[in-house]
Amino acid sequence: MNRPLDQFASRVAGLREEGAYAVLAQAQALEAQGRAIIHLEIGQPDLPTFANVALAGVRAITTGQTRYNPPAGVPALRAALALDAGARRGIEVRPEEVVVGPGAKPLIYFPVMALVEPGDEVIYPDPGFPSYRAIIELAGGVPVPVPLLEEADFSFDLAAFDRLIGPQTRLIILNSPSNPTGGIIPPADLAHILRRAEEHDCWILSDEIYLRLVYGYEPATSIAALPGAGRRTIIMDGFSKTYAMTGWRLGFGVMPAALAERVGLLLTHSVGCTATFTQFAGVEALAGDQEQVEAMRVEYGARRDLLVDGLNRIPGVHCRRPPGAFYAFPNIKSFGLSSDEMAAYLLTAAGVATLPGTAFGAYGEGYLRLCYASSREQIGRALVQIEEALAAL
Ligand code: PMP
Repeated sequence: MNRPLDQFASRVAGLREEGAYAVLAQAQALEAQGRAIIHLEIGQPDLPTFANVALAGVRAITTGQTRYNPPAGVPALRAALALDAGARRGIEVRPEEVVVGPGAKPLIYFPVMALVEPGDEVIYPDPGFPSYRAIIELAGGVPVPVPLLEEADFSFDLAAFDRLIGPQTRLIILNSPSNPTGGIIPPADLAHILRRAEEHDCWILSDEIYLRLVYGYEPATSIAALPGAGRRTIIMDGFSKTYAMTGWRLGFGVMPAALAERVGLLLTHSVGCTATFTQFAGVEALAGDQEQVEAMRVEYGARRDLLVDGLNRIPGVHCRRPPGAFYAFPNIKSFGLSSDEMAAYLLTAAGVATLPGTAFGAYGEGYLRLCYASSREQIGRALVQIEEALAAL
């Protein structure tokens, strides 16, 4: 007997909305009633796409770059990415190891689909980007969260990692610098993770979308740069954050050529290819002036300090100074509210939209995520309003 029309496949039953979109909807409902809301919930640059990049996209459209192109990306962009992504990590990358996709997310989704069999375990960070768990489950894999510890500056809890990795582990997902904590996994921890991956012969998917958004003296290290890592590592990166291009949808992966070929076929049979003019804008982003990326990074660094210093001046709030990405992840445990309750309270009482740490997994309880890719003026006002609302608790 056939199933009822509204009984969808079980693989989509567990899908949930991303927390940021849910809070955005609540904030917009308040705005519709006339409330002014400061948005610190969505993780995207407040700056427009750099003018040279936007113009290159327009030029590509008007000169006819509007047709299909190869599923893994236009050759000019794959070649430019092989050089640029390789040089930034100190590794050699060949164009056939680069796969371009419509955003960075497909470069999580398709490699997981290509590697994970039902029942395979996949280790991922918690708190972590919500799509990891969703994608692992879509592939039929078993999600194995590893906590990020505040005491260890939100690097992996390596003792928990050592307990959880085993013969069932097929893939380890890393994200450094991290969304939502801003933490960076230090090189010694990366070396430890790689050794364990080698012992258990599993893959590593390294989400490096915030690689260039770091504010200390040390750059974030890619695990792919460690000796021997290349044959088991997929680098995922993209243009959304570095070049303020979230809506253009442009990302890429670097992976062994045999896997790149399979991922290219998954792209062929799903999206077909990535928009051609978007890719030419990407070529310009890589070739053009990098000073504007640097200026943006310096500005984010100042905003980080403004936000973190301001949060730490509020009685009861404790916030580490995150070395990367554009998120602060303050500890709000002293107030005795859950993350969810606190985010809801700050939205209504302070008019500031934040995300509960639990939008990123159970180990996010007791924290909030605030995105500081917002103007200094907005951050300053948010701090005043948060402090007033917390004093009234
Ligand atoms: N990984 C992380 C850690 C992210 O924060 C994001 C974007 N929020 C992505 C991947 C996805 O990037 P894109 O929008 O380019 O698909």
